[in-house]
Amino acid sequence: SPEAARVGAVLVIDLAALTANWRQIAALAPGAECAAVVKANGYGLGDVAVASALWKAGARSFFVADIEAGVRVKAALPQSRTLVLHGVPTGTEAELAARDLIPVLSSLGEIERWGAYARRLDRKLPAFIHIDTGMNRLGLPPSELDRLCNDAVSILDSMDLLAWMSHLACADDPSNPFTAEQLRRLRTALVRLPRAPVSLSNSAGIFHGADYHFNLVRPGIALYGANPAPWLPNPMRPVIRLLARILQIRDVAPPDTVGYDATHRITAPGQVAALGMGYADGYPWSLASKGVALVAGYPAPVIGRISMDLLTVDVSGVPAHLRRVGDWADILGPHRDIDQFAKEAGTIGYEVLTRLGSRYHRIYI
Ligand code: PLP
Repeated sequence: SPEAARVGAVLVIDLAALTANWRQIAALAPGAECAAVVKANGYGLGDVAVASALWKAGARSFFVADIEAGVRVKAALPQSRTLVLHGVPTGTEAELAARDLIPVLSSLGEIERWGAYARRLDRKLPAFIHIDTGMNRLGLPPSELDRLCNDAVSILDSMDLLAWMSHLACADDPSNPFTAEQLRRLRTALVRLPRAPVSLSNSAGIFHGADYHFNLVRPGIALYGANPAPWLPNPMRPVIRLLARILQIRDVAPPDTVGYDATHRITAPGQVAALGMGYADGYPWSLASKGVALVAGYPAPVIGRISMDLLTVDVSGVPAHLRRVGDWADILGPHRDIDQFAKEAGTIGYEVLTRLGSRYHRIYI
């Protein structure tokens, strides 16, 4: 489209695949509510677009990291339960309460502050409470948990406690015994606490079976098409397709070199295409001379350094009549999925997704 031609790269986001992934995950945990984690701008794909599509599919609870994202999602979906994982930083109580955002509280201090604000309003305020079971990141540490268990009724007095929550550290590795240990720690805490719904599992945790589902599951990465259970063939549908425009094609022959630092040496006569995407678009600089794009369905190996907004591919293997300036080359998608791409770059699918640049023309289908 003329719109797309104004930029070097296009990100196609398949919302039908996204909602199919959500339904598939929801079906794995039939007794639990299936929420959706849409933090980091919906893992880079657009939090409002993602949450709105999932809302239509039946999702009702959305997790974001901070208040800014929470405000955006809540404005788009006023009936949703929007949960803020970073909790309630001092001074934000009024905004959270006024906007009907629900904090995930991670310390006794936070619980007390949220309770005190509730008393000022003379009403109970809703919250999730995060209990740390070994991640040592957010969540009530064991010493605070003890105090909460010993005095729960008065500490939770002004709270509309919606759920106890914890987070798994190693669920993507089924051989790691720490996952079962975290479950054991959570159960031990729960018997000492007032009854409320419970949420433990991220995407990988859901694949550990019903013991891990409790009342609400919190998938993120699985919804976006990366493999949530790396020990299985990827059961999720791909959600993104990333395309870069062919800006120029040239003939090359030895002793030519390609790109910065002249790292790639041409060994036989052929053709090189410049594509309109680079590290400023989240294409990792570490992927110099690694991996393959597709031009008209034919493999076109990436050669030379990745530039800021350009990368170069060898299109010698593409039939001459099929390599055309202005056409789109496939960078990420079914031929090269997020996990494979991440592995080539020495990172994880989460980072690939959340680092996708902001200047793509985005097409939601
Ligand atoms: N719950 C919490 C507290 C998280 O921080 C995250 C993301 O890291 C998730 C759930 C979703 O995890 P995943 O994307 O692995 O499904």
